[in-house]
Amino acid sequence: MSNAQVEPVGKVRTKIVATLGPASRDPAMLRRLAEAGVDVFRLNFSHGSHAEHSATFEAIQEVARDLGRQIAVLQDLCGPKIRLGTIAGDVVACDLDAEFVLTSKPTEPENPHELTCTYKELPDDLDVGQVVLFADGTVGMTVLEKRPAWVRMKVTLPGRIRSNQGINVPGAALSVSALTDKDLADLEWTAKHDVSYVGLSFVRHAADVTRLRSELEARGSRARIISKIEKPQAVANLESIVAESDGIMVARGDLGVEIDVAKVPAVQKRIIEICHKARVPVITATQMLNSMESSSRPTRAEASDVFNAVLDGTDAVMLSGETAIGQYPVDAVSMMSQIAHEAENLIFARYEEGFGDWLAVRKDAPGGPSRPVSRAGQVLPITEAVVESASHVASRLRAALMVVATHSGRTALALSKQRNATPTLALTDDAEVAQAMALYWGVTPLHIPELFDTGQVLAFADEWCRRSDLINTGDRLVVVRGVIPDNPSHNALLVHEVE
Ligand code: PEP
Repeated sequence: MSNAQVEPVGKVRTKIVATLGPASRDPAMLRRLAEAGVDVFRLNFSHGSHAEHSATFEAIQEVARDLGRQIAVLQDLCGPKIRLGTIAGDVVACDLDAEFVLTSKPTEPENPHELTCTYKELPDDLDVGQVVLFADGTVGMTVLEKRPAWVRMKVTLPGRIRSNQGINVPGAALSVSALTDKDLADLEWTAKHDVSYVGLSFVRHAADVTRLRSELEARGSRARIISKIEKPQAVANLESIVAESDGIMVARGDLGVEIDVAKVPAVQKRIIEICHKARVPVITATQMLNSMESSSRPTRAEASDVFNAVLDGTDAVMLSGETAIGQYPVDAVSMMSQIAHEAENLIFARYEEGFGDWLAVRKDAPGGPSRPVSRAGQVLPITEAVVESASHVASRLRAALMVVATHSGRTALALSKQRNATPTLALTDDAEVAQAMALYWGVTPLHIPELFDTGQVLAFADEWCRRSDLINTGDRLVVVRGVIPDNPSHNALLVHEVE
């Protein structure tokens, strides 16, 4: 039996990802956020030094050890985000029809109408008539004239821009590489820290994901890849990107600038559906409880947004500025957790109504029918059949708990996608898998020294549950055993009644 402290099996099944920043990275705050329900901490490599991220990483490990919990870390690479250079005076008003120059030549330091950016080739990649957006799409300029190394633009969407704000060129096929020099330097950091996930920003096609995977492997890292869908090209190549990825993020911030914001909800639903079928975890991100950066309560629309993302079938919901720089980081996590819990109750109630015709209900249920479609070799038909049957049995028997013994985490992920009302305890002998499973909906991961035979797994789970007061005499446990390396032909489903 492990000496780890006993962790309550999560009441809230939807996982919460919290971005860290100045408001949240000190150890006491990390602990409060974890206690409020954070499962995955996101380190945003667009900001901060390697030394700062290392200190935060160590603090997260300590909090996880103290709480006896598996907490995953997502290292979010900056990617080829194009940013403005320094503007004379730091901020400039962009009045309608005012003209600006974007140049990669040396600029006049006093002229705020001469703009530079972090991607030198941008002026050469632009065409006359193209629209360039600044500051999260709040300011727009149209290219009037193009010359080598510079373009002249006219303001068509007025506003204000500041030094270092983001630039988007919706729909443009820029020659920029998916992994920048900074990203490659940041992967050296990855190699020294056991992060569960690396976020790949501005993915355009599956080859971007395979490139990152080989860079990770070359550095001896087993980190899993979360592809961030924020470009129209990624939306066009969704199935193949999902098939290459270990997780997906609906990165609505940049996505809502790169495509028409009115199309974002439909794209979100499509991404979640594809991930559900492919058995890939998906995170819905950005502006979920945005107003909580400066208010202790969310708007009604934000509450609905979190609720609906859970109904759509998202595995995780993410907080960005709310926890990184906001005034109410802990309240934001608690609020997200409460809203997600309400949405889960609705999912379970819908299943309940269809009790007796469980499979028929599932077809119409949030998340839709569950048929894996991709990542050849990743989800085995036997595993699918076993987890589907196990879910049926657990529902029929009103089991107190499902226990899954898994080496790679795949069986736990397949079980998670069944959206069972019965909570799932996932036992694995691989410490990295245990942490990564913190992202899986409804799964409480537990690292054990060895994956014993099924009888021993059951005895272990039984004892662990008794210690954590999770089960009583007469309760039923449904145990699922995935493929294990020394016995690859076995999958097992076992029902146990607590004596
Ligand atoms: C987003 O654009 O929604 C996102 C999550 O990416 P970032 O915060 O890195 O801009």
